[in-house]
Amino acid sequence: MSYVDDVIEEVIRENPNEPEFHQAVREVLDSLRPVIAENEEKYRRDALLERLVNPERQIKFRVPWIDDNGQAHVNTGYRVQFNSAIGPYKGGLRLHPSVNLGIIKFLGFEQIFKNSLTGLPIGGGKGGSDFDPKGKSDREIMSFCQNFMSELCKYIGADTDVPAGDIGVGAREIGYMFGEYKKIRGMFAGVLTGKGVPFGGSLARTEATGYGLLYITEEMLKCHGTSMEGKTVVVSGAGNVAIYAIEKAQQMGAKVVTCSDSSGWIYDPNGIDVAVLKQIKEVERKRLTEYLKYRPDAQYREGRGVWQIPCDVALPCATQNELTLDDAKQLVANGVYAVAEGANMPSTAQAVDYFLEQGILFLPAKASNAGGVATSALEMSQNSERLHWTFEEVDHKLREIMVDIYHNIDEAAKQYGKEGNYVDGANIAGFLKVMNAMNAQGIV
Ligand code: NDP
Repeated sequence: MSYVDDVIEEVIRENPNEPEFHQAVREVLDSLRPVIAENEEKYRRDALLERLVNPERQIKFRVPWIDDNGQAHVNTGYRVQFNSAIGPYKGGLRLHPSVNLGIIKFLGFEQIFKNSLTGLPIGGGKGGSDFDPKGKSDREIMSFCQNFMSELCKYIGADTDVPAGDIGVGAREIGYMFGEYKKIRGMFAGVLTGKGVPFGGSLARTEATGYGLLYITEEMLKCHGTSMEGKTVVVSGAGNVAIYAIEKAQQMGAKVVTCSDSSGWIYDPNGIDVAVLKQIKEVERKRLTEYLKYRPDAQYREGRGVWQIPCDVALPCATQNELTLDDAKQLVANGVYAVAEGANMPSTAQAVDYFLEQGILFLPAKASNAGGVATSALEMSQNSERLHWTFEEVDHKLREIMVDIYHNIDEAAKQYGKEGNYVDGANIAGFLKVMNAMNAQGIV
């Protein structure tokens, strides 16, 4: 068997019951076959791939917290410090009942290559907890965040590991965690990104993932002789990534007709009203059914279904494996031209293969949603130099980074005979930099 196949088999054997982690590893290693084939014996001797797929460190801890009735609860916290070859570990914290070690490992593994693609000096990590923030009071959220940080603070630092937000973790949660870190450590350090602007946060961080998704999509369309102008767009999700993807798509002249949450979805043929969406999700923290109160002509349907709406561009921005092979077939049958992932691994492996077979322009998450972590790295730079850049400055850098990522992955795909396959292009381009750093640093 080839070295790549040996390592995939070992990952499956050594990490049972972690299907998302297997999926992420298989996708990356499959793309790397031509790179590994160039020097297979050396890489095997150096156990390069084994070192790549095994996190440098995995931390699992108890998080006790007390609800508003005085009842104590215990959740599990995780931080996986995956790879620090090119910089301090960097990656978000996810609070969702579905979180387990396998989910955090899949996200942390993806993060290595995404962070490398940004061109900035950041390694890969990820963390979170199976705590469910839904329906919790503000005080309960604070209690959880403080208890989570009272343990996590032992393992992170501005030059070692800098977490950020992800599903269920926005500015409010980062604020509570930052406050607790500062209290325990007695220092004001850039140990988290996504902070509020008055205490070291970067302007444009909130918008960055969604805006970045549209900057790279626009660049890809431009290189194929078209643009977002006049396109019909279908978006899933109604959180941070989805909201700012919708906003930027509309600024570029597209019409976005859907959004969703875990209960149901909205079809608004006149175009989603993003101000209403922000009011419901960012201010009131309510369910999407509320949308109809403001926009009675829109339709709300229970469950999932955004992918059945005909569109030119599809942007999955909710969660992993939310776009299946059947959804991909429906999108293609309806004439979709481009798909760009805002969420992490939102398309199943079969859906990705189908898009590529059908010649659909497809941008994988590790390239297309890298704008969030790139801007987090810009926040780290601002914290280090104790300066604060303007919105325009950060947004301009973000756009440049996303445009560069597109050209890097396009180039890498061409170099290895995979022209137009941005999945392989992203995996290869992300890997090469990490591999060179790992080789230079010896077997550590
Ligand atoms: P949010 O928590 O702000 O929003 C998540 C959205 O997805 C909500 O609308 C949520 O609905 C929906 N959702 C979550 N889980 C499920 C599920 N199991 N089934 C259906 N819908 C679901 O998270 P973000 O917008 O920050 O993150 C979305 C995706 O983007 C994630 O994959 C994340 O890893 C990725 N990402 C985020 C970045 C960031 O900067 N925030 C950076 C890079 C990637 P509900 O409210 O009902 O749960």
